[in-house]
Amino acid sequence: MTPPVDRESAAARTQALRAEIERHNRMYYALDAPEISDAAYDALSRELRELEAAWPDLAVSDSPTQKVGQAPSAQFAPVAHAVRMYSLDNAMGLDELDAWLGRVREAVGYRACEFVCELKIDGSSLALTYEDGALLRAATRGDGRTGENITVNVRQVADVPTHLDEAARPAAHDVQGSLFDIAAWPATEVRGEIYMPKASFERLNAEQEASGGSAFANPRNAAAGSVRQKDPQVTASRDLATFMYAIAEPRALGLARQSEVLEWLRRAGFHVNPDVIVCADGPSVHEFCASAIKRRESLPYEIDGVVVKVDSLALQDELGYTSKAPRWAIAFKFPPEEKTTVLREIRVQVGRTGNLTPLAEFDPVTVAGSTIARATLHNIDEIGRKDVRVGDTIIVRKAGDVIPEVLGPILSLRPKGAEIWRMPTACPSCGEPVWREEREVATRCVNAGCPAQRLERLAHWAGRGSLDIDGMGYEIITRLVDTGALHDVSDFYALDEQDLAALDMGRVKQDGAPVALGPIVAAKLTASIDASRRRSLARVFFGLGIRHVGSTVAEALAAEFGSIDALAEAASISPLAAGGGVTLAAALASDPIARVEGVGPKIAESVRAFFGNAENRALIERLRERGVVLAEEKRAPARPQTLAGLTFVLTGALEAYSRDAAGAALKELGAKVSGSVSKKTSFVVAGDDAGSKLAKALELGVSVLDEEALVSMLDTGHAPGFVAATSDPDE
Ligand code: NAD
Repeated sequence: MTPPVDRESAAARTQALRAEIERHNRMYYALDAPEISDAAYDALSRELRELEAAWPDLAVSDSPTQKVGQAPSAQFAPVAHAVRMYSLDNAMGLDELDAWLGRVREAVGYRACEFVCELKIDGSSLALTYEDGALLRAATRGDGRTGENITVNVRQVADVPTHLDEAARPAAHDVQGSLFDIAAWPATEVRGEIYMPKASFERLNAEQEASGGSAFANPRNAAAGSVRQKDPQVTASRDLATFMYAIAEPRALGLARQSEVLEWLRRAGFHVNPDVIVCADGPSVHEFCASAIKRRESLPYEIDGVVVKVDSLALQDELGYTSKAPRWAIAFKFPPEEKTTVLREIRVQVGRTGNLTPLAEFDPVTVAGSTIARATLHNIDEIGRKDVRVGDTIIVRKAGDVIPEVLGPILSLRPKGAEIWRMPTACPSCGEPVWREEREVATRCVNAGCPAQRLERLAHWAGRGSLDIDGMGYEIITRLVDTGALHDVSDFYALDEQDLAALDMGRVKQDGAPVALGPIVAAKLTASIDASRRRSLARVFFGLGIRHVGSTVAEALAAEFGSIDALAEAASISPLAAGGGVTLAAALASDPIARVEGVGPKIAESVRAFFGNAENRALIERLRERGVVLAEEKRAPARPQTLAGLTFVLTGALEAYSRDAAGAALKELGAKVSGSVSKKTSFVVAGDDAGSKLAKALELGVSVLDEEALVSMLDTGHAPGFVAATSDPDE
């Protein structure tokens, strides 16, 4: 991405990046379900850091670049960390590692400085507090200041000692000041990583899939998800292990080096990773990193780098911390792992809106800890660009351990006669002809009755981001469709618990008897179906699978309309057609759906098409009859909505407010705040150094307000020249 050259674009990009990173933080830390690879996440964070460095006035203290992890979940009791827990800064290659080594040496005045290299275990941070030698509490890192109390769960993890070993009890002369009573242990907080061995991860995912549950993306997420359970028995069944590598206050135990910390932890009975060395110079650090990359695959647990730490605790103290990480340590992250394999088939999958997606199926390979055998090739253009053909030896990777990707073929290994792949002309599921609209990359099956689309629509409704019917996976849905119990999403709400319990799973036991779903799973499913009746309206809009309505648009529509009936009503108003003397702006303004922020005419058209279809309207009625909540109570606005219908753009620096705060205050009065100036803009508020947006406002003749006018408007609640609360400049 080319860095923005003007402050306004930099500000817009910074804001967008922060929102996107926060969203991924939630998916990763709170839901243990990352959506993008770590490498992609790291690239976003890096871009944000670079922008904040280039435009220091855009940096804010609550930026994700300044924070550790995520605030703890309310599901667990909070634990305030007596000593903060930090993240680590990353070095993305040997150059960055050398730069860090150089900075450290300079900062310590070129005194002798040794480094400890440890493997970076890809699990979840853990803090264990021992009082008088006995395990008192276990906590997650959370946001570094407050973690989550997971003591009952961690007590189920076999290698966490319940008591510290006597062999580690410090002698009086070891201890700083030596004033404490050595008959008692000093309060000790031990830190490290809780992880899931690779073999246990594979086993768990196989079990999850067999029972219709969702698989974990990687061992890290599986470990984090397993330790953050409501039921400790679930944690107990998950085969977790730990490697401990730090003590919150090592001086209290008379320790002076990181290498001594590791030694003490071993004596006290903790599992400490044996793969550690102390290095006196850069080349030995390089050597350890290179050998770790080589050994990575054969290790029984997942690692994602090497942590290099200054050995001397006294030098660590001198180096100190940034707001997020110690200056005395760095995580050398491994480059994304790539493997070669043979492409056996390109299979076409039919999505819920009828899009045909080619899927590469290749010989299974283990990449970054898990086995992959397929990856999406997205669309026919992508296949053409990459020029992959069946039979090719291909390079695959799993950047950051989440999404498998085909990088391309090794042309020199292409078998003779390998043919260019073509999209089928008929849908592989229903056999109807498929279409590719002009200027669109996707090929689609437009048969609404296509069985593959129906299955995907049902699975989408039950999925995590939509109505979240826990346990309702593809296998059960397929069986329910096959037995005729499920036709559309409203049928979930007519399923009978006893029928579910008797559902034939299409498999047989060893004695030849058919496997049924059983009463326990049926009861759980019935409870999750019932809970899904009361999800938010945004999830319902998203779950319906209206073309182009993703989760963000669904949220905007839910916030604007508040009920499915209000949206259906808006969809029944046919907007002025653009052209024939009607300007696009007027056409947009007459369309109650298209004018919602972030929606626009294409999505509005698709919403109209959805509600225009009698079958969809009947489906909504069945959902309503079967108890699915289709409206949201609107919270009464705190202040009268006197600026409703007006759109503001804020530009330049304001004195009394940050732009975010001014935007929030305007929204409280019902105004919309937009990032770009158009004819639809009612006012541009221009602070100091306003740039291109001010110029655009002047060019389009949009009214411009200064900060004084903004302050008075926020006080009185009235925009200059606008008396009526609901006046809309575009009407
Ligand atoms: P991190 O995982 O990069 O490094 C810090 C952590 O490493 C420490 O908190 C500790 O738990 C762990 N660690 C393992 N072995 C260690 C050792 N020997 N010594 C010291 N620490 C050790 O940082 P983070 O703040 O936990 O997470 C940020 C990273 O998580 C990102 O760089 C990204 O890779 C990933 N992430 C991904 C997504 C996504 O959507 N894919 C979202 C958020 C974060």
